[in-house]
Amino acid sequence: MRSSADRIKGDLETLGEIGKTEAGGVSRFIFTDEDFEARRFITGLMQSVGLRTVSDKVGNIIGRRPGRNEDLPPVMTGSHIDTVPNAGIFDGCVGVVGAIEAMRVLNANGVTSNRPIEVVVFNNEEGVRFEPLAGSKAMACQASVDSILNSRDRDGALFREAFERGGQRIDGLPSPCRRGRVRAFVELHIEQGPILEKKGLDIGIVGAIFGIRQFLTSFRGVAGHAGGTPMSMRKDAVLAAAKTVVAVDEITKRYGPPAVGTVGSVRVYPGVVNVIGEQSEVSVDVRDSDGSRLRSRSGEVKRRIKAIARATSTEFEIVDRLEIDPTAMSRRISRVIEVCAKRVGARYTHLDSGPYHDTMMMAKITKCGMIFVPSRDGASHSRKEFTEWRQIAKGVDVLSETLVALSK
Ligand SMILES: [Zn+2]
Repeated sequence: MRSSADRIKGDLETLGEIGKTEAGGVSRFIFTDEDFEARRFITGLMQSVGLRTVSDKVGNIIGRRPGRNEDLPPVMTGSHIDTVPNAGIFDGCVGVVGAIEAMRVLNANGVTSNRPIEVVVFNNEEGVRFEPLAGSKAMACQASVDSILNSRDRDGALFREAFERGGQRIDGLPSPCRRGRVRAFVELHIEQGPILEKKGLDIGIVGAIFGIRQFLTSFRGVAGHAGGTPMSMRKDAVLAAAKTVVAVDEITKRYGPPAVGTVGSVRVYPGVVNVIGEQSEVSVDVRDSDGSRLRSRSGEVKRRIKAIARATSTEFEIVDRLEIDPTAMSRRISRVIEVCAKRVGARYTHLDSGPYHDTMMMAKITKCGMIFVPSRDGASHSRKEFTEWRQIAKGVDVLSETLVALSK
């Protein structure tokens, strides 16, 4: 038996009703009534396919399918069910509902695996409330349980109290840290980009998750009259900002794909038509799948900013905001995924992931692989998000074959 597009559609749409907004999207932030309802729904689904469910101390939900040898570390799969505001119903949820469908397929085919298989719902991937990636960070032993339980959201609510509001006592729950106790991790996820659709393919096998460098640059010039100040005597902070925007684009294009570079925010002061800009603030976000290319490009952009400041007679300051190195997927697992894709007749390609995922954390403690399914028009983090049901089913078929192969 293969996976059923109808069942997947039914489960995803039911989950997508929970936290539906008037704007037609879904808002489901952790430890809200909607989140607790979604957790109950998913836990029920897990149990209906025979998984033994448990929540760990930071709110990850784990459903376990026993193997012949219960002492061996399990093969794990899963994703997240929290969303950004007014999200679609696919981001994260495809990997959770898909993993549960994969368990149905294994059950129907009478598969008994040697290793146990675990389906995980990572808590708070998006991190609209509290720190993003909280669940996978804790599972990968990159954050202590206490630091997460004692964190607060923007309104001052304590993680621990918000969690227990759902009716569970944290004290009796197992620790999330699983170093040495996960054989392999595979995440099924929507691409959130246009490549698979454009190439008319069913799945993408992820080679790496992009690393990111983000920094904020501010320039300080001198305000002056737009008519009275000769061009040679200006200290124009807006001009410096504009040159930075162009520099990020120019340098990134010179490096070539898969390098991407974005200035998403430019703010200028005083922002008046006939006044030379006194201050400006430019965000820079550069990403690449290769760490050394990323470091050298980020360094080159910073050196160029220094030169721009000199050329425009402005003062500048750079504040680093985010430094994440690229995460390589396991070549062995990617090969297994490739073999399984061929076996189920899925047309595939190899690509990298621009967005980050829970897999990024899991890769710190175990070998990982990622399977992407196409996103229509590349849309994501929006209610326009859509993936053809049969394409999700193809992804689930590749996932279930991969889990069987890895848990032998
Ligand atoms: Zn996601």
